[in-house]
Amino acid sequence: MQPLRVLIASTPVGPLGSGVGGGVELTLHSLVYGLSGLGHSVEVVAPAGSLHVGARVHQIEGALQASSQLADRRAPVELPADSALVAMWDRIAELQGDFDVVVNLAYDWLPLYLTRWLDVPVVHFISMGSLNDAMDAAIHDLARRHPDRLGAHTRAQAVTFDRTVDGVVETVPFRLLGSGVITDRYDVHVTADHGPDSPAHLGAVGRISPEKGLEDVAELSARSGWPVKVWGMMQDPAYWQRVCDRHPDAQLEYCGFLPTDDLQAALGRCTAVVMTPKWVEAFGNVAIEAMATGVPVITYDRGGPSEIVRDGETGFVVPPDDVGALVDAVGRIDRIDRIMCRQRVEEEYSTEALALRVDEWLRDVVAAADREPARRR
Ligand code: UDP
Repeated sequence: MQPLRVLIASTPVGPLGSGVGGGVELTLHSLVYGLSGLGHSVEVVAPAGSLHVGARVHQIEGALQASSQLADRRAPVELPADSALVAMWDRIAELQGDFDVVVNLAYDWLPLYLTRWLDVPVVHFISMGSLNDAMDAAIHDLARRHPDRLGAHTRAQAVTFDRTVDGVVETVPFRLLGSGVITDRYDVHVTADHGPDSPAHLGAVGRISPEKGLEDVAELSARSGWPVKVWGMMQDPAYWQRVCDRHPDAQLEYCGFLPTDDLQAALGRCTAVVMTPKWVEAFGNVAIEAMATGVPVITYDRGGPSEIVRDGETGFVVPPDDVGALVDAVGRIDRIDRIMCRQRVEEEYSTEALALRVDEWLRDVVAAADREPARRR
């Protein structure tokens, strides 16, 4: 089959490698690796200062966009003066004749709106659930114009965009794409070997921010006596301080933000990774990263992680906000076969598995756009 020329638009909240983009950075890396592996030629547009990702990166100067995780539902669309997001899409407009398709990873209104004005077909891999009315409206509007152009990680994420108009439920016809990791970069730990320097411990990974529910991890530690190592970008230091102050008996150790190779080595030493999201986590890359190292995941039955983890097979899925159920699950963790955790990632969440799903999506969109008259709106 004819290879495609694919341009990936990164998130404008931070350069690649900074961690500010959260899971989007890993998704982008996996897409570059997976799509290149299928023979496509891939380039990336990202904020200036981005690290190498295995493809040419067009580095774009400009003021970064604020993260939208904690934006108010009714907040209007905001753009800083000298916006990196605007400059990224100016560059994409200049480059569009050289590409068959653009894959947008930014959770922003502007690229959704611009889609109708660009000649190149643009698809949107939406990275979070519904958070903001202006974004929801832009997504539903695009779904009406181009039902094939929207992708999401999980069903749990997709249904957050359902809305009822005049008594009729409108859903967005997302392609469900999951996510993927470069499995070769993750060493499998077939037994729980916590290393010589620390006792057996649990892990919690992600941006240090209220939607990750670290207060429940702290309570789990205090009630069970298990030490927990925490890795992630320190997005909200005041929140971290509050968690530590409220749970003086918890044994939480903040271990900083690590590059992927170091993070996977550290993850492999955990007895289990715990996920206690307070929001509908769209996916939860850290679940597949942990599983890729053979480490089971204990998660609340909320959002993406609950679709990734198979209860009793690759970890445990417990009722949301139920810390007692977390404590109970940790007590049963040695029933989980660590090889099975890795195997599930190989089957469903390798970069190849992700790329094959995305490849099919892109080919459908490009073929449909080619059939459209004149302008590909
Ligand atoms: N991460 C990392 N180093 C760390 C902690 C986290 O690189 O020390 C990465 C991790 O690999 C994952 C991302 O941060 O890809 C968090 O993504 P996730 O989808 O779990 O949550 P998000 O931040 O997107 O809400």
